[in-house]
Amino acid sequence: MNVDAKRSIEQDIAHHVHPQTNLRQHAEKGPTIITHGKGVFIYDSEGREIIDGFSGLGCVSLGYHNERLAEAAMRQMNTLPFAPTFYNRSHPRVAELGERLIGMAPGGMNRVMFQCSGSEANDTAIKLIWYANTARGEPQRRKIIGRIRGYHGNTIATVSLSGQPHMHAKFGLPLPEFKHTELPNYYRFHIDGESEEEFSARMARSFEELILREGPDTVAAFFAEPAISGGGALMPPKGYWEEMQAVIRKYGITFLVDEVVCGFGRTGNMWGAETWGLKPDMVSCAKALSAAFFPISALMFKDELYAEMMRNSDEVGLFGHGYTYAGHPVGAAVSLQALDIYDEIDLIGHVRKVSKRFLERCDAMQDHPLVAEVRGVGLFCGFELMRDAKVRIPFDPAWKVGALVQDFAHDRGLYLRAIGDRISFMPPLIINEEEIDLATERFKGALDDAWAVVKNKI
Ligand code: PMP
Repeated sequence: MNVDAKRSIEQDIAHHVHPQTNLRQHAEKGPTIITHGKGVFIYDSEGREIIDGFSGLGCVSLGYHNERLAEAAMRQMNTLPFAPTFYNRSHPRVAELGERLIGMAPGGMNRVMFQCSGSEANDTAIKLIWYANTARGEPQRRKIIGRIRGYHGNTIATVSLSGQPHMHAKFGLPLPEFKHTELPNYYRFHIDGESEEEFSARMARSFEELILREGPDTVAAFFAEPAISGGGALMPPKGYWEEMQAVIRKYGITFLVDEVVCGFGRTGNMWGAETWGLKPDMVSCAKALSAAFFPISALMFKDELYAEMMRNSDEVGLFGHGYTYAGHPVGAAVSLQALDIYDEIDLIGHVRKVSKRFLERCDAMQDHPLVAEVRGVGLFCGFELMRDAKVRIPFDPAWKVGALVQDFAHDRGLYLRAIGDRISFMPPLIINEEEIDLATERFKGALDDAWAVVKNKI
């Protein structure tokens, strides 16, 4: 290790508190220092080349090097590095990005607000729903439903909405307005003999029962990702969205589709909503909006909600919400450039083409003794690891099998993410077939390494 890297590790351990990290382990072992990247590869301070099988955090759509994005940022920094969007002020790039996003949004959106992260987009959505319901004379309609193990962000409201117990424990969360319906993990939770369609109908019944228990006139919205990423790379079972959307419509609930991960091509369409026929009232997006080269997010919604916002704003004299860096000119310029690149390289066509190979190689791991289920679409694949796939007996959590696979993969030069005993595999969208072969070979090797350890415990 070179002297600079050693210094970085010392500085990091001494002062830097890391998000979503085992703090004890960090204090003892320190960080992995990533020094640079190119294409789908990242390089650490030990000089190792690692394929990024998780696109950073599901965001690095165009890989780690792109001169056009860098130049777009530089040009904008040299022209107008900052401009507020408060107090009726605007700038050309943000106006153009708004028009562009609305032109491509799923479900007939008309309005857009910008923020810097997926959390802020979803947090803004919660506030707007509450704000509009006050204007409608329904201030009691405040409850927002998410899903157990779903994820929508880390502000106090969005983490309350997320169904991740370890993010609630010790924080005194969730806030009381946030409720959670069941996780549609068919493989793990279906009753023996139950078809996917029957399972989906049961999920929708359980959702409806929750609404009825809470009181339909107190339920404001349902937030969901088209396919669940943070909760373990789960694809919706057959019939799930038809059944769930029927309940949403029955009770007149606002439906926010969180496209933070699925948006911009991940599932082989521009939006996850297209892949599964969702009809959202609101859409949030972030991450690949700027190909992760700048923190920016967007919340889109319809004129009906905007009209309610206008009513309140007329009464108060001002719409009282917004962040300093909302619609940052550099973020807007980078996002416009990313969207241009997506069109020019036909990113969606590319994902559709290479995902055949990707999913084929992933499916081939179904026979591995550690793997119980492989599920995927586009360049988004999840693996369920189980002790006994047939009778669905999970591994002892203390064995940390998922983490073991993740660590062995890293040793072999592949970064993947373990979520308990689920593995999420979502490489940058520009990955080519040769790189897919290399990544899946390394993954298979990591499964073998982990199996060599685990089989002795069984
Ligand atoms: N929604 C989803 C589906 C996400 O996966 C994430 C982040 N992984 C967020 C929202 C929050 O985004 P951010 O971390 O940019 O706040």
